[in-house]
Amino acid sequence: MDNNELLLTRKSSRRNQSIFTCTKCKQGKMNPLHQEGEPEYTDIFTCDKCDHTATIPSLVIIFTQFISAIAGGMVSAYLFIQHLSKVLTAFQFNTSDQISSDLSLMAVAALFLCGFGYTLFRAVLGINRRRKYSRKK
Ligand SMILES: [Zn+2]
Repeated sequence: MDNNELLLTRKSSRRNQSIFTCTKCKQGKMNPLHQEGEPEYTDIFTCDKCDHTATIPSLVIIFTQFISAIAGGMVSAYLFIQHLSKVLTAFQFNTSDQISSDLSLMAVAALFLCGFGYTLFRAVLGINRRRKYSRKK
């Protein structure tokens, strides 16, 4: 591949076409706000008509949030259920030798579940926001 071709592909993958419409004035286009010294990627967009700014997460971020929330959530749920059943068995047979460690592990798993639930929540929020801004009037 010669240099020209390389430059061309790089340019086309970096086109700055805005796909988002401003929700405030309903006319302006939302353009990515690049600050000097910042990496090229940004999820902050600003309207070219009324200066309305909004954070619109990229699809990559939303996708990553979904994957980690689902994978992490499944693991935490599995651990939670496993320790819960151990606690229940301990209660049933009145053996309390391991119950405190199982309870604390359950608490940790529950905490992780909350965290992954929050990640999932943020991913859904991000999708909603993208939808809101990319809606054509
Ligand atoms: Zn606007």
